Amino acid sequence: MTNPEESSWTGDVESKLLPIYQHRHKLIEAVKENQFLVVTGETGSGKTTQLPQYLYKAGLCRDGKIGLTQPRRVAAITVAQRVSQEMGVSLGHQVGYQVRFDDCTTKDTLVKYMTDGCMLREILTDRSLRQYSVVILDEVHERSLNTDILLGLLKKTPSRGCHGRTLPLKVVVMSATLETDKLSVFLGDCPVFAIPGRTYPVKELFCNLIGPKEKEGSAYVKAVVKMALDVHTNEAAGDILVFLTDQQKQIFQPAPAGVRKCVVATNIAATSLTINGVRYIVDSGFVKQLNHNSRVGLDILDVVPISKSEAQQRAGRAGRTSPGKCFRIYNKEFWEKCMPEYTVPEIQRTSLTSVILTLKCLGVHDVIRFPYLDHPEERFILDALKKLYQFDAIDRKGNVTTLGRLMVEFPLPPGLTRALLKSAALGCEEVMLPVAAMLSVENIFIRPGCHFSNRTVITVITTILITVHTFLYFVHKGLPEKQKEAEIMHRELAARAGGSNDFLMLLCIFEKCRASENPSAWSKDHWIHWRALKSAFSVETQLKEILFRLKQRKDFPQETFKGSKSELLRQCLCQGYFTNVARRSFGKAFCTMDGHGSTVHIHPSSSLFGQEAQLDWIIFHDVLVTSRVYVRTVCPIRYDWVEGLLPKLHEIDVYDLSNVAREEVTDEEMARWEKKRVAQKQMETNEDAS
Ligand code: ADP
Ligand code: MG
Repeated sequence: MTNPEESSWTGDVESKLLPIYQHRHKLIEAVKENQFLVVTGETGSGKTTQLPQYLYKAGLCRDGKIGLTQPRRVAAITVAQRVSQEMGVSLGHQVGYQVRFDDCTTKDTLVKYMTDGCMLREILTDRSLRQYSVVILDEVHERSLNTDILLGLLKKTPSRGCHGRTLPLKVVVMSATLETDKLSVFLGDCPVFAIPGRTYPVKELFCNLIGPKEKEGSAYVKAVVKMALDVHTNEAAGDILVFLTDQQKQIFQPAPAGVRKCVVATNIAATSLTINGVRYIVDSGFVKQLNHNSRVGLDILDVVPISKSEAQQRAGRAGRTSPGKCFRIYNKEFWEKCMPEYTVPEIQRTSLTSVILTLKCLGVHDVIRFPYLDHPEERFILDALKKLYQFDAIDRKGNVTTLGRLMVEFPLPPGLTRALLKSAALGCEEVMLPVAAMLSVENIFIRPGCHFSNRTVITVITTILITVHTFLYFVHKGLPEKQKEAEIMHRELAARAGGSNDFLMLLCIFEKCRASENPSAWSKDHWIHWRALKSAFSVETQLKEILFRLKQRKDFPQETFKGSKSELLRQCLCQGYFTNVARRSFGKAFCTMDGHGSTVHIHPSSSLFGQEAQLDWIIFHDVLVTSRVYVRTVCPIRYDWVEGLLPKLHEIDVYDLSNVAREEVTDEEMARWEKKRVAQKQMETNEDAS
């Protein structure tokens, strides 16, 4: 008997030309026959858009959904849109997507595209993913932190009870051609299904515009623009794909006849999305990457050289529909000296705090011996445990506390969550909710092309139909005046919020705009990105809903507040940001108090910039490293607000934690360590005294 969907839906013509189409029957068989399957194939072969449709047609979602994870939000959304179009259904019904703070699914959704982070949250509510029949982890070669954790969790797939039967959850792991053997071994030697690709040769050229000396700094931005213009003037027809380090959207529209399309993209275009018509690649050689900086003890967004394997992926994008060329702005020396062979997986370079809390809440006590595809350095795990202990999310034995179980419910960084929970315990969440929401959306301030920054170039060439003419137009016309206008307006907004607290400024902008008659006009007048603010409104509502649900719990904390109302916001912030405390040391410099003792400066974008001389203690939201270490989103505090919290930063030693991380700890053992710790402290004091 044929599946009802099969007869009514035939798929569109274009998708039948994709390499995957010829292999669909074998592929469906392979999924049916195996609990684990690795699927690999060139970018653009149809894995992401077609496989879920084939499985749907073959009836594999008769007793559960098909879920497909993407490391990136934009990819999850655009792919879901595309697939719903191909299937001729409206988005959010049979085909939907879910990303953080944006759920476009209904109870009818059978094919669900989602970020890996959302899938991880779903596992928290249902460890055995009973709602799913097939889970597809996509773009696994990117090695995002959440995908790596999902791999470890799904490796031990629990059976799902369903209509009285026990069915194993099927897990398909999709990857570009790298590391497929390693994946297969990791998943118990499961079969690898390789989709034969067809690609054209790509000529790779090193252009010698930058070398190892330009490893840091922004010389590459200018070089990339020059290169793109050179390609535009000298090369035959064909679109250009430029790899830079910023974000962009709307790249799929075909260019009008006679005009060349030039797309500026981040890594996302390397494999997650395929753009047709591209014949030329301009590769900057750089990528923006979140790295844990052990010097400052924080996660920092760095611009770093890409790996050689990433450069090859980028070049490959030029050969999809015809032979192509890849112009690398860097020279051979840069390639050899500055670019690593492979990209280091995220799990080995970022803070693991949220993920370790999630694992603990899932009952994975031994977070050191968890099956990681690539093991993170033990000190990163210990750092995470230490942070969680400092935030009171776990106790000294490594068990999740009541607070930790509340914290894990929020899709926010642990510090921010703790500040929010504190405000809720004090019954004043209306001040923290907007702040948390504003900190969770992309940058809200419009800053028209400061100097010759990435942003300028992006405005110039995104969505782009470049001609030399439009390019010069954007760079030269009216930017300085506009810049000044925006700056004055932002300063005025800061002044209206008292002029000395960036968090409070965010709260004021949120409230003023929401109360205004025409919020979008208000944003425009005040040089605020309306889109970002609109999503902050929606994020606030969603956080409020989570909070409302948690407040019903009997164990939700309740406290009273001693002190003035005006201090309330700052005191709540201290509860989450006491790990980001700094004290003014000399001149405009501050010294962090978390044991690293790094020197930091207030970033010029802060409303406190220039007022350093009047400040003593501050807390900050994040860090930017250029020639200096800058802190952004800053708020002055009083020492006595953090006095009681700071000792916690130095309380637990790594030795305790490495044991806590490994196994369940008995009370006797705990007492033994405590004794040892006290003895050690005593010895140190004695040494100090003598
Ligand atoms: P893979 O996952 O193997 O890299 P995809 O399934 O993403 O391949 O892409 C298959 C085809 O679908 C490509 O030719 C691509 O151009 C097209 N495609 C994917 N998403 C979109 C979209 N949002 N708009 C237009 N075309 C798209
Ligand atoms: Mg894909």
